[in-house]
Amino acid sequence: MKIFLVGAGPGDPELITVRGLELIQTCDVLVHDRLVSPALIAQANPQAQVINAGKGPEKKRYPQSEINRILIEQAQAGNTVVRLKGGDPFVFGLGGDEALALIAADIPFEVVPGISSITAVPAYAGIPITHRGLASSCVVLSGHSLDGPEWQHLPTLGTIVVLMGVRKLDQIVERVLATGRSAETPVAVIESGTTPAQHVIKGTLADIVEKTRAVRPPALTIIGEVVNISDGIDWFTGNTDATVWGTAQPALQDD
Ligand code: SAH
Repeated sequence: MKIFLVGAGPGDPELITVRGLELIQTCDVLVHDRLVSPALIAQANPQAQVINAGKGPEKKRYPQSEINRILIEQAQAGNTVVRLKGGDPFVFGLGGDEALALIAADIPFEVVPGISSITAVPAYAGIPITHRGLASSCVVLSGHSLDGPEWQHLPTLGTIVVLMGVRKLDQIVERVLATGRSAETPVAVIESGTTPAQHVIKGTLADIVEKTRAVRPPALTIIGEVVNISDGIDWFTGNTDATVWGTAQPALQDD
């Protein structure tokens, strides 16, 4: 009896860890989220019971308490359970809540981290979230609710990445502008990143809301000067040009 909280990676099914894939292939029960690639679920041990615990704004399946109950019940029945979550299980996915519920029920578990969309989705749009001379910090926020104290203390420098906020982009833009950032600050919204359906929309704080009306989750927003470099290193679609940004950078320091 054991539960593995496994990160499935950001979308492309090949972006899972070796350990994560091995566990999927050998588990007795696979409990997965909505964002997990069907190609990974197809890898499950043919004898495994597969439970779709996917939850989302439209397709509400199970409340979190019910998922916790299923995990505990399955483990107590003696099964090896893989709880497969999009990206990294401990990033905005209630993985911590599940871990606490397992501890309370005295169920042994392990966490198998995954590649989070935080870095991977911008990377597939050609955007490094930090870049020498442009941003040496990055703040990641959940756009699920804009009531939290973090939204009152947005950084005026560096990169801002927002998960789950695409439907509230107008309010997010307002908050960022209120900190004094220029309306010309570049912004990218990336829909279904790392998958064949990846769609990248670039603009500025002034026009991104207008440009992204048709975008649907999952989508991630990245705000800051780093977005401009993607004009040169958009490797996923093959648009690369080292001169786009390279010449404007300070000389490399060997330190
Ligand atoms: N644990 C996950 C995040 C869960 S919250 C992780 O580490 O990546 C879900 C949010 O992640 C989505 O609303 C979206 O903002 C972002 N996201 C996940 N996969 C994505 C993808 N393929 N493309 C764009 N955004 C994605």
